[in-house]
Amino acid sequence: MTTARTNLIGLTREELTEALAAIGEKPFRAKQLWHWLYHQGAKSFDDMTTLSKSMREKLPEHFYVGRPEVVQHLTSVDGTQKWLFRLEDGNEIEAVLIPEEDRGALCISSQVGCSLNCAFCNTGTQRIVRNLTAAELVGQVMAARDSQGEWPSGLDGRKIVNIVLMGMGEPLMNFDNVKKALKIIKDGEGIAISRRRITLSTSGVVPMMARAGEEIDVDLAISLHAVRDELRDVLVPINKKYPLDSLLKACAAYPGARNSRRITMEYVMLKDVNDSEADAHLLAKLMRQYDIPAKFNLIPFNPWPGTSYETSSNNAVHRFSKILNDLGFSAPIRHPRGRDIMAACGQLKSASENQKLKDLAAKREAALDSAPAPSI
Ligand code: SAH
Ligand code: SF4
Repeated sequence: MTTARTNLIGLTREELTEALAAIGEKPFRAKQLWHWLYHQGAKSFDDMTTLSKSMREKLPEHFYVGRPEVVQHLTSVDGTQKWLFRLEDGNEIEAVLIPEEDRGALCISSQVGCSLNCAFCNTGTQRIVRNLTAAELVGQVMAARDSQGEWPSGLDGRKIVNIVLMGMGEPLMNFDNVKKALKIIKDGEGIAISRRRITLSTSGVVPMMARAGEEIDVDLAISLHAVRDELRDVLVPINKKYPLDSLLKACAAYPGARNSRRITMEYVMLKDVNDSEADAHLLAKLMRQYDIPAKFNLIPFNPWPGTSYETSSNNAVHRFSKILNDLGFSAPIRHPRGRDIMAACGQLKSASENQKLKDLAAKREAALDSAPAPSI
């Protein structure tokens, strides 16, 4: 009888050591394998040339090195890259590489779909399917590095320098796997991306925030988007469960938050919804009132098929940013990247799901075409 093989990607050092012990191998093998997997980025046991031949033959009987499969790799006119990955069970997720002048940020997904249904978010229209495993979280980083030729770790001039958990899904609804994956990603003898270069974005799963600061220890971003509960209840419905007062208190208490390591407040700019001067003033006032070391990130809304929200005018966005600046806050406007390949914030969704939307639109158009022409 054959037993199912185990994916080595996604195991912590301790788990890897245990898995090897179970087939009679000594702990130093785990160190060797760790180096091959996460420092060299080896994709198969055959590539692990410092292992004996017998070892290279034995390992595949029990284990494999699994990455998500790249189904599609798109590059935007602005240089943003997007990967559509297929997971072992056929589900699909996306990751995006946003290049900047001297470095880049890889935006990874934490769930297939999302359970939180924020009104302005494309991912939120896709039902939650499941949490990603630690292997699938780490695998996105590894597959992106494969595609950019960025192995071994520590190469000069690499693009994937920062990691942001801002893709599909809510990372704090998948706490254990996110924690485990980030521990692997941060390990200095492997992928080696430091905690200061990792940002976790949450829509406000308040009870998990303190634990995130203590146990995951990365920078925090909050999807704030509104300064009044009535509006935030609509835009970010988890606010009904954890209203602004509880969220802002949790931000003030976030273990990593200091002036040198401020919390990023993300604010999507929605035309005539949350972009007034009064909102900007209230935003600054709240940060002072709760004593939150905050900086802002103003995100012009990225439209997607079927949404009724619109992007705030350039004037409104600049006015908003200036008010915050004048009150002493950093409030850069994040220029939309990769909109042409649906890779911008909040546009991600499994391609098969997008196809359903397109099919629906095509059907509607066909129905209109065949309808009798209106008399003029
Ligand atoms: N679930 C987490 C992380 C993923 S969303 C969270 O909500 O924080 C990453 C960011 O993109 C969030 O701030 C989210 O509110 C924002 N976003 C979602 N849809 C958007 C859209 N259509 N345009 C611009 N930003 C959007
Ligand atoms: Fe989920 Fe974040 Fe989108 Fe809200 S904004 S639906 S929490 S992915």
